[in-house]
Order: sequence, then structure tokens, then C-alpha cells
Amino acid sequence: MEYLFDTVSHEDREIASEQLWKILSLNIDYLSQEDKDLIELAFTEMVIAHGDQRRKSGEFYFVHPTAVCIILAEMKLDTATLVAALLHDVPEDTDVTLKDLSSDFPREVIQLIEGITKYSTLKYRGEQRYAENLRKLFLAMNKDIRIVLIKLADRLHNLETLTHLRPDKQYRIALESLEIYAPIAERLGISKIRSQIEDLAFPYVFPEHYQNFVKTSTIEISKRKKILSRIIKDVENGLKKDTIPYYSVKGRAKTYYSLYRKLITKERKIDTVYDLIAIRIVTYTVEQCYEILSVLHQLYDPLNNRVKDYINEPKENGYQSIHTTLTAVDGTIFEVQIRTREMDEYAEYGVATHWAYKQGTGPDIDTKKFRWINDVVNLGKQWGWQKDYVRKIKMNLYSDRIFVMTPKGDVVDMQAGATALDFAYKIHERIGEHAHLAKINGRTARLNEKLSNGDIVEIITRKDQRPRLDWLTKVSTVNAIKKIRGFLNTFQKQEDELNSQKKR
Ligand code: MN
Repeated sequence: MEYLFDTVSHEDREIASEQLWKILSLNIDYLSQEDKDLIELAFTEMVIAHGDQRRKSGEFYFVHPTAVCIILAEMKLDTATLVAALLHDVPEDTDVTLKDLSSDFPREVIQLIEGITKYSTLKYRGEQRYAENLRKLFLAMNKDIRIVLIKLADRLHNLETLTHLRPDKQYRIALESLEIYAPIAERLGISKIRSQIEDLAFPYVFPEHYQNFVKTSTIEISKRKKILSRIIKDVENGLKKDTIPYYSVKGRAKTYYSLYRKLITKERKIDTVYDLIAIRIVTYTVEQCYEILSVLHQLYDPLNNRVKDYINEPKENGYQSIHTTLTAVDGTIFEVQIRTREMDEYAEYGVATHWAYKQGTGPDIDTKKFRWINDVVNLGKQWGWQKDYVRKIKMNLYSDRIFVMTPKGDVVDMQAGATALDFAYKIHERIGEHAHLAKINGRTARLNEKLSNGDIVEIITRKDQRPRLDWLTKVSTVNAIKKIRGFLNTFQKQEDELNSQKKR
């Protein structure tokens, strides 16, 4: 680790830490006095341990663990998690050891810090890094999910301060966040952290796409916001008329990266994304959710087959809600999510809600819900954490898309199941049309070979090559199909002639 060790006056540090403690103590209002005292002790010891260490940004190092702790306090996590968050970099980066800490803090806390340190010492080993990092995250998860919660918060804050790093490091950390941390947050149902990680990493991983995307989507989003604020009023009036109690009706814009993903993986235009802004109705009971659904279907025309009942059938990560898509009088199509307050909290914090602070009770985690964690860990043991396994896990986490690379190292984002020929068309129409062979990870491959996450793909072109009818069976992306069809339509006659010549 590289820190700046500027000489700073004792007073500067004192003032900084006092201000920081004020912010932190505001965020731990939900704890008992005893718990607050333990956190204050951890804070004080942490500030002393990190001393004058600085981050790349020039800030005192102790700002970082405090920020991580605040992120977790916003999720109302238990005291052990918050104390461990404050101390998470102490054993690794200061002279204070775990053993030193164990005289002041309970075993539970020490075990958490130990977990974070043990599963985070990473040496850069080129490609091995992802594999290593993934393996460690899953092992930590199996041990105590709180370790992973702290690591997610740690990553989130590091992304927030990424501007101060070298561009190559920015890219590596951001890509790893998109590939590993965000999908894990998603799998744990912590969509709030997932979307924050994604939106922070997005501009570093796809700078050009990000620029274009923000330009086009902000206009569309603000247009949609205006329309929806009127619809929200109508919905509220409708519910009041039928005297159905509700907690809140709000509009919520899709986050940038999730919208971007939807546009590229489903190859859609922005004006056909119905949940660009969704209306979210939060109420008190499950019964009321269904009542609200029926009121809405009386007020607006529902789009066929667009009702998704995640209350009866929760998503694998535990998410519950009813989704429906409706049409307003003026033709605006919009999505509505209906859920109870508990479901709403779970939708944002997922598994973390199980560790939310409850006085006098332990965590009430329903481990059955998260059996997949054990499944992957056991699979990993069986297969020895080979690289192939890691690829499969990554595929599994992001089952709808893969990342492949050009020989120059540019990352290309494609839907799962895409072939080398899809890739060729994605790079450029001309490369697609003249594609002759592919090289996947240096090995010669057919154009219809399916690509896996992390593949390095090169397309060998030939001047006299051109699309044929059977190419349609070699691709799976809409983009490639459209382009091949377009070509074939234009040259249909020549194609027919060629076929009849072959038959003779
Ligand atoms: Mn850290």
C-alpha cells in the first residue's frame, strides 16, 4: 500500500477526527448506549493506529474506515459489524495487531476482522487475480456473510475515491467491481449497494458508452419524470377513492448502468424501456398489495402478460414485489411495483436486513434462502477452484451477459450465448461480413463457437468472404441477425444463383 506520510500538525488530526466522529455518531442513533460506547472506543483506537497515514486523495486514512462504517450504519447493521468495519484495515496497515485488539474487543468482532484480513490479502497475479478474489469472497461468505457486507462497503467507498488513482488501476478496480462485487451484491439482494457500485464503476470501464449514454438518457428520463408525476397524483386519488391504505407512492428512475445493460443485452431502444422510471407503491399488508393491483388495472389498461408476481414466487435472492406494466390515456407505458414496507426494505438491503440491529436478539438469517452460497463453495471444493470453474461462476452470477476482449484488451459486453460471429458483427459490420475464422484465446475456432466470459477473441477476415443463409444459425444476437438478413435481402438473387450452381 502506498500512503502519503505528510507531516501534519497534531491539531489538524484532532479537528478532522472530531468532525468525523460527529457524523458517525449521528448515524448510529439506533444503537444502545453500551453499543455506542464500544464503537467510540473502536473509532478512537483506529484513529490513533492509522495516525498520520494519508490516502491518495490527501485525506487522513482514518476517513476511509469511518466512511465504510457509515455505509453499514445506514443499513442499520449490528454493532459487531460496525466495529469490525472501523478496524478493518488496522492489522494489515498499522503496527497494531489482531492480538492487541483482542484485549479491548469481543471475540465476535475479532473473528470478523480476521476474516476480512484473511480473505483480502491479494497479490496481483495477472489473470489469477479474479479467480483468487472470487474464491476468497465465497469462502468468506460461507463463514460469515457480514465479512462480505464489510467488503462490499469497503469496495463502495474505494470506488467513490477512485479518481485519485492511476488510470490503469482505476480500470482494473472498476472492472473487477462490475464483474465480481456488483453481481454478488445482487445475489445477496443488496440492490442499493449493487447499483451504487455499478454506477460508480461504469464510467471507468466504458468511458465512451457512458458519455453518449448519459447524454441521451437524461433527456428521456426528465421527459418521463414529468409525465409520471401526473400519473402518481392520479394513482393516489384512485387509491383514496377506494379507501385502500398505502404508505407511499413514488417514482424512481432506473440507475444508469442497469438501464445501459438493459439497452445492450436486450438490444432495445430507450423509448421502449417501460421501467425507465417505475412507480413504486409501498403499503402495509400483502392483501393490500393485491387490492392495489386490481385498482390499478381498473384505472389503466394493463399490458398483456406483464404482471410478475414476485410475492408468490420471490426471486432467488429473496426479492418480493408485484410488477405490472400499464398504459395511460396518452399512450405512455409505465411499470408499477407494489410491495409491503418489509419487502421494500429487503429490496434495498437484502440479506443485510437479517443482521439489522435488534436489541437483545441475534441475527435471524434464513439460510435456506441462501443455499446457493453453499452450493458454489462446495462446487469450488470439488473442482479445486480451477479457472474454468471461476468462469462458470462468473457466468452464473451474470447469467444474461458475458465480457469478452479484443486482442488489444478492449472489453466487449455481450449477451450470454453469443458466438464469435456475433462478436465480429458487434465490433463492426464489415468485420462481420468478411469474417472467415476466429481465434479464441490464441486457438483457431469456428465462427459459430460460443464465447465464454474472459475469452480473448480475434476475427480473421477474408476479402472474398460474405454472409450466407446458414450464418443465421451461427449467431444469436439481434444485431447480427438483422445485419445478416439485411445483406441477404439485398443480395438474394445472387444467393439463389449460387445455391443452384452448387446443386448442379
Ligand atoms: Mn479498506
